[in-house]
Amino acid sequence: MDGSRTPVYEKLEMYIDGKWCQGSDGKSEDVINPATEQVLGKLPHASKADLDRALQAAQKGFDIWRKTTAYERAKVIRKAVDLIRQRADAIATTLTMEEGKPLGEAKLEVGVTADIIEWYAEEGKRAYGRVIPARIPNVRQTVVREPVGPCAAFTPWNFPGVTPGRKIGGALGAGCSLILKASEETPGVAIALTRAFADAGLPPGVLNLVFGVPNDVSTHLIASPIIKKISFTGSIPVGKHLAKLAAEGMKKATMELGGHSPVIVFDDVDPVKTAEIAAAGKYRNAGQVCISPTRFFVHEKVYDKFAERFISYAKGLKLGNGLEASTTMGPLANVRRVGAMETLVADAQQQGAKIEAGGKRSGNQGYFFEPSVLTGVSDKAKIMYQEPFGPVAPIVPFKSFDEVIGRANGLEFGLAAYAFTRSTGTAAAVADALQSGMVGVNHLGISMPETPFGGIKESGYGHEGGIEGLDAYLISKFVTTMGV
Ligand code: NAD
Repeated sequence: MDGSRTPVYEKLEMYIDGKWCQGSDGKSEDVINPATEQVLGKLPHASKADLDRALQAAQKGFDIWRKTTAYERAKVIRKAVDLIRQRADAIATTLTMEEGKPLGEAKLEVGVTADIIEWYAEEGKRAYGRVIPARIPNVRQTVVREPVGPCAAFTPWNFPGVTPGRKIGGALGAGCSLILKASEETPGVAIALTRAFADAGLPPGVLNLVFGVPNDVSTHLIASPIIKKISFTGSIPVGKHLAKLAAEGMKKATMELGGHSPVIVFDDVDPVKTAEIAAAGKYRNAGQVCISPTRFFVHEKVYDKFAERFISYAKGLKLGNGLEASTTMGPLANVRRVGAMETLVADAQQQGAKIEAGGKRSGNQGYFFEPSVLTGVSDKAKIMYQEPFGPVAPIVPFKSFDEVIGRANGLEFGLAAYAFTRSTGTAAAVADALQSGMVGVNHLGISMPETPFGGIKESGYGHEGGIEGLDAYLISKFVTTMGV
């Protein structure tokens, strides 16, 4: 930040049926800057009447949008993408103010958000069906792909741009309308994205944005017969709860839930270079990333060198307000994460772990927690089986391939997994053996607009990104026609 200008935060409002509004019963909550604990603004909550208006609007929007050709839809969506790119600096500032990540990371996120939405706009043109040869003459059998209907999406606070972007892009690219309930803790970026669509001329009702008490909003929207599909990103317990609500109405659901990604470092790599890649990934967004590398299994032959460089990397990070240019790690996004980190560190210590870096809260203003490294961690310590979602890294040694695969696959998570090796044989074997929706070998770049993003086991089902991400908003209709 160049210090000469006061950062401006987004105006907080909801968007229903093409109009910006406050809640009809006047309820609201404060949005807090996690670096300063200052109130950024008052966020309106939707009343039941507001949610019902959003539902009616989503039905009306769907009736318009599904009849709009993919080519025309793409023009409007791309116009919104242009506006997001033009406004990127302001949106990134809002992101850092409400979520905490360094401004550079926030700018990257806004750029990726625009790329994701743009990709879906284009992919909507390729929602191909197919022609199936018939068993009898004079019959044409086709499968057509149609948008599933009005959708509801619920997004969390750690990626306030990318996660709403995936859901808005997927739904609108496929021809669906959407009611988005973005995180109440980081609402400004979703508002800014919605503003771009409104300004681009999206027809009223196609995209609606609401806020409120999460469970009240999701229960009301999912129970409505208007909603035909839901998409959720967040924790496993909430995902299971929403999946049950969706099942009541036999509705399609995409569930992007938590992870606890193993990183397996074999003895044939450069341990110093690998530690730098691993630590950079671990402390991105202060570790509040569902695909964050979180369980570091390092072959005993390269363990010491890896741990030494990882620890020095953590100690070299500069904790601070993300708007300051020198900051390399921001605060945690909310005070719950500080408590969670303290619990995980204390538990690991009780089980014999050694704190090599950090290990405690920093300062007395803002939700700062030091970049932390633990060694000598027992597999029984909570940090080895509970998703940390914060800047605490356990590093443990292993001896053999089978042993480490057993430990890596031993949890109910299956979102992301990583391995580092120079051997093509080991690379193929480890990619085959890891039970995970996504596997990165020798790098951590597993999330791209055009590649499928999603987990297995309790990490969820369905995908966002890639052709799978568009597919999630489409249904297949079989049409057979006999010539008469
Ligand atoms: P939480 O489980 O209460 O909430 C997680 C998210 O779900 C929040 O955004 C919240 O607003 C939303 N939510 C909660 N109840 C809901 C409901 N009934 N209907 C709709 N949305 C609902 O916990 P939290 O303290 O916000 O986060 C803690 C844990 O959640 C983290 O440790 C992490 O495991 C997980 N999480 C995962 C992701 C992800 O990207 N997969 C993102 C954020 C949080």
